[in-house]
Amino acid sequence: MIKKKKSLDQMTDKELEDLVLTPAFKVPTSSEVERLAARLHKKARAKDIELGKRCTHVKRCGLLSCPVCRRSQQLMMMAEHADLPKKAGHSTTKKGLRSITIIPQYGETHVGELPEGGLRKFKRRIRRDVLKCAPGFQGLLCVDVSWNIGMTRRECWQWHVHGIFGNITQREYKAIKSQFGQIAGRADRPVLQRKVYDVTGQLAYMFKSNFFGRKNYQKTGERRNTSKFILSIQQELKLAEVLCRLKVSQRRLDIGTL
Ligand SMILES: [Zn+2]
Repeated sequence: MIKKKKSLDQMTDKELEDLVLTPAFKVPTSSEVERLAARLHKKARAKDIELGKRCTHVKRCGLLSCPVCRRSQQLMMMAEHADLPKKAGHSTTKKGLRSITIIPQYGETHVGELPEGGLRKFKRRIRRDVLKCAPGFQGLLCVDVSWNIGMTRRECWQWHVHGIFGNITQREYKAIKSQFGQIAGRADRPVLQRKVYDVTGQLAYMFKSNFFGRKNYQKTGERRNTSKFILSIQQELKLAEVLCRLKVSQRRLDIGTL
């Protein structure tokens, strides 16, 4: 069925929000996340899995397992830090802000497990490792998890962080790279960084509402690569079962003040 296009004055605030955010920042629409939340709760009930209280628009659950609350956090972070470039101009390097992804070896767990000691310890370890290499590091980061399928079809969860940072030297960056090291037999590089031209886009990416899977595959010769895939509802439920013990705010990791 083709929906008739509405004019601006016929649209609800929600529809307007989706119209702007979805194409520009790949933010899922509000109905997409609500549908996923409903499907998760239905599946959980059928399998007798406890996911915590159902999130409603009157009382938000605030749990990391909830796609609706993850989306709210994503939007909040985009709004809250939209003026980062101006602020960063005062406090950090003239070279501007850079994005970073860190995939530490200690973030790899069995399916269904949090990193050793929980998310709090995981974040502490990353903060400690980064500051050891770059004491003046100023960054805002977010914890993410991907469902990885290795080349031998072995499955695991990979906990990692995405962030935005400034104020480090080339030498310090090299130290961070070697701190997290290249891991033998793994396709992805543990540390990635690039210059940020679009701060809001990077924030939307860091705090993205959806989790994804990664499949490692063999490329020609020695080179390997990974490809992203969308999780099945069973995989989403397995993640939700663990993430419902955490608050959505626990994703955030501040190192120094950006
Ligand atoms: Zn919620």
